[in-house]
Amino acid sequence: MPEQYDVIVIGGGPAGYPCAIRAGQHKLKAACIDEWRNRDGSFAFGGTCLNAGCIPSKAMLESSELFHRVQHEFAVHGVKVSGVELDLAAMQKRRAQIVNGSRRPGSTDCSRPPA
Ligand SMILES: Cc1cc2nc3c(=O)[nH]c(=O)nc-3n(C[C@H](O)[C@H](O)[C@H](O)COP(=O)(O)OP(=O)(O)OC[C@H]3O[C@@H](n4cnc5c(N)ncnc54)[C@H](O)[C@@H]3O)c2cc1C
Repeated sequence: MPEQYDVIVIGGGPAGYPCAIRAGQHKLKAACIDEWRNRDGSFAFGGTCLNAGCIPSKAMLESSELFHRVQHEFAVHGVKVSGVELDLAAMQKRRAQIVNGSRRPGSTDCSRPPA
């Protein structure tokens, strides 16, 4: 028999998933549907923000800022560094860990009562 829901939200980005959580907090039976697929074909919640936008871009920005600072700002502090290299694979690995960590079960709590 098909499942019945009070609310079905299409889109699991920053607009959709809080809406579904909020509905759940108000004792409505809510479902959130998303079609996002990563490059490896796996489905993923979080929309543009988590998968391709805000979160991964800020992770890469932080890494590239550190790379810039070590090259251009450390010397004036009297910190000498030589042989600085950029390891893009490590940078991407850190970005992926941050994104995946934000997707962990329990990183959002649908059972919490509404504020
Ligand atoms: C590089 C980049 C950096 C950004 N940085 C920031 C930032 O620092 N701060 C900030 O506030 N904003 C930032 N943004 C903007 C932010 O990502 C968007 O404003 C936000 O993701 C919009 O949320 P949304 O839920 O409306 O849409 P989305 O996050 O786009 O989510 C929509 C979801 O709906 C799903 N969907 C669509 N149609 C269907 C369908 N028919 N069936 C099932 N699922 C469907 C999609 O798969 C997607 O997961 C950035 C964006 C980019 C690209």
